[in-house]
Amino acid sequence: MIKHDVVIVGSGLAGMRAALEVCENLDVAVLSKVYPTRSHSGAAQGGIAASLGNSESDSWEEHLYDTIKGGDFLCDQDAVEEYVKAAPRVIYELEHFGCVFSRTPDGKIAQRSFGGHSKPRACFSADRTGHAILHALHEQLLKRSKSIKIYSEWFMHSLVLDGDSCNGIVVSDIRSGAVEVIQAKAVIFATGGYGRVFNITSNAFASTADGVMAAYNAGLPLEDAEFVQYHPSGLYRQGILFSEAARGEGGYLLNGKGERFMEKYAPSRMELAPRDIVARAEQSEIDAGLGVDGKDIIHLDLRHLGKARIMERLPQIRQLGIDFIGVDCVTDPLPIQPTAHYSMGGIPTDKFGQVIKDAEGTPVKGLFAAGECACVSVHGANRLGTNSLLEAVVFGERAGRSALEYAKNISHASINESHEKTKILELFESIFQQNGDDSYNDIRNEMKKVMTENCGVFRDESRLQICIETIKKLKERYKRGKITDKGKLFNTEIYEVLELGNMLGMAEIIAVGAINRKESRGGHSRTDYPKRDDENFLKHSLIYNTGSGVVVKYKPVIITKHQPAERTY
Ligand SMILES: Cc1cc2nc3c(=O)[nH]c(=O)nc-3n(C[C@H](O)[C@H](O)[C@H](O)COP(=O)(O)OP(=O)(O)OC[C@H]3O[C@@H](n4cnc5c(N)ncnc54)[C@H](O)[C@@H]3O)c2cc1C
Repeated sequence: MIKHDVVIVGSGLAGMRAALEVCENLDVAVLSKVYPTRSHSGAAQGGIAASLGNSESDSWEEHLYDTIKGGDFLCDQDAVEEYVKAAPRVIYELEHFGCVFSRTPDGKIAQRSFGGHSKPRACFSADRTGHAILHALHEQLLKRSKSIKIYSEWFMHSLVLDGDSCNGIVVSDIRSGAVEVIQAKAVIFATGGYGRVFNITSNAFASTADGVMAAYNAGLPLEDAEFVQYHPSGLYRQGILFSEAARGEGGYLLNGKGERFMEKYAPSRMELAPRDIVARAEQSEIDAGLGVDGKDIIHLDLRHLGKARIMERLPQIRQLGIDFIGVDCVTDPLPIQPTAHYSMGGIPTDKFGQVIKDAEGTPVKGLFAAGECACVSVHGANRLGTNSLLEAVVFGERAGRSALEYAKNISHASINESHEKTKILELFESIFQQNGDDSYNDIRNEMKKVMTENCGVFRDESRLQICIETIKKLKERYKRGKITDKGKLFNTEIYEVLELGNMLGMAEIIAVGAINRKESRGGHSRTDYPKRDDENFLKHSLIYNTGSGVVVKYKPVIITKHQPAERTY
């Protein structure tokens, strides 16, 4: 059995930042199914928020209010307050770690505008911000390689829970196929989001809900899973992201008539309204037949910014357009549509990264979570752009500190190694043995299609019912799938099958959460319940696996400074 004081699953911003917090005092391991710097954090483009006030005066109080209003008043305000207060310190710390931020002419960290933020507060490294931060953190990990062990291309399967305590995880080495138990005093999940459940998505191939489903399968609830963010500017048909930074720098959105249609939907903020509002505006234009060439296309027009500014501030966006569709945004508008982008929901934690298992806040001892897989909840019903990288770093640090405090004075609990291992070996064996005739690829494609078509920007009872029924059928078909590679060494096919199993589970949870939330709030928009309903739904959902089905419970929202108000821009 492998043994560490603390094991962290995930090497994105949250996991790496957590490791730095633990490693001075305890032995820590970081495990990732992809090479660490291939984590999805590295794809983040636009920026990381902090009220530095380098372009215009700013304050944490304004960042707090913008975040709460952006989240349609579903955020836990005590957590948001601590998080926005921590932001400036976190930016300077990243800079001291070696992250190169873009600059103002007088040498300060430059800041640009982003949707829903009333002040320019996005710190950025051109349009490769996630890449810059991820590599700076990775260098810090490598510098401490004596105290941080990295398991690169290892897959986490399940949690080892004993009552209310977490004692380790079950993993396998993708290269050799060997299944192992890692015994740990504390486990931190930093496994990212699950956008791959959808057909049109900006997310990396690895964003497949493994961490959240490991928690759910162990009997823990998932919070606010119905809230999925659709980003307004995904590349048409492919979903690849063109950062909101393009609009932050002054880009326009045009419909098929060449009109800046945001004037109808958010006249004061135009293209820089929060994402839920812009994505709905785009979808409304498309549904009204006002898409470009009568198709489901909107134009992102950057031509007026000029080549020099595009090359300085948005070089990656330009290159993506050229590489993927042969469109140069210097001379032509980019074809876009809403794309599934971010999961507001996840494993419920308190503001210290401690995983909790019910509305009363009962802790799961030794289990912590941070980043996109966790629901603290600082984003409520809709996350503002640039607030997620910040969340990953702030709560990665906090989860690391909490895990350290918890683990430093205790010894390892005993684990029934063979029992834990056998469960996963049997799972592998059942997939290998299952001589079905169904194609896992077909099942995956049908799941993605039904989710994008029926659980997207606009939802209603009958479409959500279609999702739930289709996913149930797909889960049955999954049991009759056929795998072609039955080898042990670097068998990527079996890992894709396991990821599909997790995504089918997650798809059902999203749809069940959505059908039960009979209101429209933030990223969750029901055409049959078009209004926000604070009387009945100013609460977080907690979705449990009871063994016999999915059960939805609720818990109150923590409101401190700002009472819910009408949300207009
Ligand atoms: C294209 C794009 C652009 C974005 N731009 C911005 C932006 O400009 N600003 C902003 O604030 N936010 C942005 N976001 C959101 C933000 O990047 C993410 O929410 C954030 O980076 C998530 O970080 P994380 O550490 O939680 O997870 P990730 O970076 O997603 O890392 C997840 C880790 O978990 C590991 N993992 C998962 N499952 C397993 C398993 N079963 N076994 C082992 N390891 C596992 C993965 O290998 C990976 O290392 C963007 C997102 C996308 C997709």
